[in-house]
Amino acid sequence: MVDFENTEIAFRQKNKNQLRKAYWLFRMLASPTLVKVGSFFTRTAIKTRLPVSWALKPTVFNHFCGGEAIDACDPVIQKLGEANVQTILDYSAEGKESDADFDYTREQIIATIDKAKGEPNIPYAVFKPTGVARFALLEKVQEGDSLTQAEQLEFGRVRERFHTICEHAVKQGVPVMIDSEESWIQTVVDELVEELMFRYNEKEPLVFNTLQMYRHDRLEYLKDFTKRARQNGVYSAFKLVRGAYMEKERARAAKHGYPSPIYPDKPGTDQAYNDAVSFCLDNIKDVAVCVGTHNELSCERAVEKIAAIGIEADHPHVSFAQLLGMSDHISYNLAAAGYNVCKYVPYGPVKTVIPYLIRRAEENTSVAGQTGRELFLLRKELKRRKK
Ligand SMILES: Cc1cc2nc3c(=O)[nH]c(=O)nc-3n(C[C@H](O)[C@H](O)[C@H](O)COP(=O)(O)OP(=O)(O)OC[C@H]3O[C@@H](n4cnc5c(N)ncnc54)[C@H](O)[C@@H]3O)c2cc1C
Repeated sequence: MVDFENTEIAFRQKNKNQLRKAYWLFRMLASPTLVKVGSFFTRTAIKTRLPVSWALKPTVFNHFCGGEAIDACDPVIQKLGEANVQTILDYSAEGKESDADFDYTREQIIATIDKAKGEPNIPYAVFKPTGVARFALLEKVQEGDSLTQAEQLEFGRVRERFHTICEHAVKQGVPVMIDSEESWIQTVVDELVEELMFRYNEKEPLVFNTLQMYRHDRLEYLKDFTKRARQNGVYSAFKLVRGAYMEKERARAAKHGYPSPIYPDKPGTDQAYNDAVSFCLDNIKDVAVCVGTHNELSCERAVEKIAAIGIEADHPHVSFAQLLGMSDHISYNLAAAGYNVCKYVPYGPVKTVIPYLIRRAEENTSVAGQTGRELFLLRKELKRRKK
């Protein structure tokens, strides 16, 4: 079994100063007031074009991001690689609206695929659907509203971007993961991704969809898709996450008067998550799975299941993934035990990455959860080094 409390392994790449810096960063993030005020000022500064990079770059940016451009991430990729932790480069543009922006993002993703080709430290590429498509357009398509001629052409360009990226990834032999988003655009994303999975996953699992297991329909979807994929002689491939938009989902469902698609409580989500991992591992012959979580228990369960079904720890169809700057105790200990482990490494100009950083900060404001864990482990390691 893997000991996630082993802080010596977890933080072996951090010197004392870096540990102290990380400790103070999480201390600040643990304060809801500080995060609220900080997020407000950052958003305002961006709107009013005040410079903010000087404050963000040496703090949250350097902690959670790889760099401002692809090649600037090299030192991070190399360092992670030395601990057998691999990298998924994530160009973090969000909330864009124009075709020019979407085409630029597509080119960035193509560049990450080229970078990954033949580079063992970068096993996957990734992209976020709304990095290459306008949110409101996807929403309109999903609602079944009739599109204007211009919108039909725009949606054609979205489909083309999805296809160009995946075609390129397949040509270079680099598997590509597609992130999941809000349920009111996810059905149309699923349709686009399924098309690609059926086209490209014949010989090996190259196109991965993402399932948010906080949705109570996802386990059924996973089983149904796997069946359909098998009937069509293609691999299923999924990144499994719990889901990042719970409050938004519930608020929208309440506002529009439809039942929330999210489990009513955390144990419901946890159970579905663990069941989905278990299902994928039981079907590992033709299902590939990336266990994308910071939840120790889910990782432990996955490790137990891998042992129970008797496949090797580094089976090519199984990997674990965490975000850079979070849960190193999971990533480094799993990697040291021989599992395939990746970090999502976001990159981009500081201004572009700000929505991502604000989400990370807001996600970490509860001392009860993830941040409390980070603080406890950092304190433990600092104490151990004093001895
Ligand atoms: C590598 C990686 C890739 C990711 N990609 C995506 C992506 O493509 N799309 C996406 O949406 N998210 C993505 N995420 C974020 C992910 O969905 C989670 O928000 C985040 O990882 C926290 O969940 P956890 O499993 O790590 O840990 P935990 O702390 O165990 O779980 C927290 C999660 O549980 C769920 N939850 C919490 N309270 C309740 C409740 N009361 N009722 C029901 N459910 C509850 C929520 O989903 C919450 O985020 C990714 C995360 C990682 C690590």
